Amino acid sequence: SEFMALVSHELRTPLTAIRGFAETIFDFWEEITTEQRRHYLRIILDEAERLSKLVTDFLDITRLEGGGIDWECKEVLVAPLYGKIAALFKEHPSKAAIAIDIAPGAERLKGDPEQLYRLLVNLAGNALKYSVPGGMVTLRAAPDGDAVTLSVADQGPGIAPADMERLFTKFFRAGDAVARKTHGTGLGLAICKGIVDAHGGRIWAESEPGKGAVFKARLP
Ligand code: ADP
Repeated sequence: SEFMALVSHELRTPLTAIRGFAETIFDFWEEITTEQRRHYLRIILDEAERLSKLVTDFLDITRLEGGGIDWECKEVLVAPLYGKIAALFKEHPSKAAIAIDIAPGAERLKGDPEQLYRLLVNLAGNALKYSVPGGMVTLRAAPDGDAVTLSVADQGPGIAPADMERLFTKFFRAGDAVARKTHGTGLGLAICKGIVDAHGGRIWAESEPGKGAVFKARLP
């Protein structure tokens, strides 16, 4: 019930904005300038996009926790997986570059291709979201005993030591992320943890504040 309360609260925020601005445009069509109209419509579009991301994240986390996913266990090739992620984020507004580095012995792993893709979309999406223009996001894969460690490194603001522990809990957003007005649901990393746990792996972050962050997933 705590989750449902949070969900309805989170859904209501963008809905209220969409409704409010749509109402203003409708009621004051003649009074407001074309410029204002465009500005309000931009807000409506942004909030609709946020709403759609929220719904996707809610469904993902509910399915992860409710066992609603038919897990596959297949051989997954890392190079095409990383290639897909780089292509997806090619036009990202952060303008950060994406580099790929796959060490010998980490070319392939066992897992669910769709879910590993979701994992990397979330991690790379965050890395880019917290990047500055001219920055670099690096997707790495390295062998580690009988496991492969996938990692996503950025040169963004990094993570305060006090926040490290709570990163992977649902709805957690660091004060810094909130202060910098980045949009987010606080569910992305909880989804990542759910995916890595289901693979029998471990996920963690390493960071020195001001010097970027690295998120690592060790997958057996
Ligand atoms: P959000 O939707 O807020 O990005 P996540 O669960 O993906 O939710 O991330 C939770 C919080 O972890 C973020 O609000 C941010 O404070 C922090 N975080 C995640 N990735 C990074 C990163 N690459 N650099 C700095 N902080 C990050």
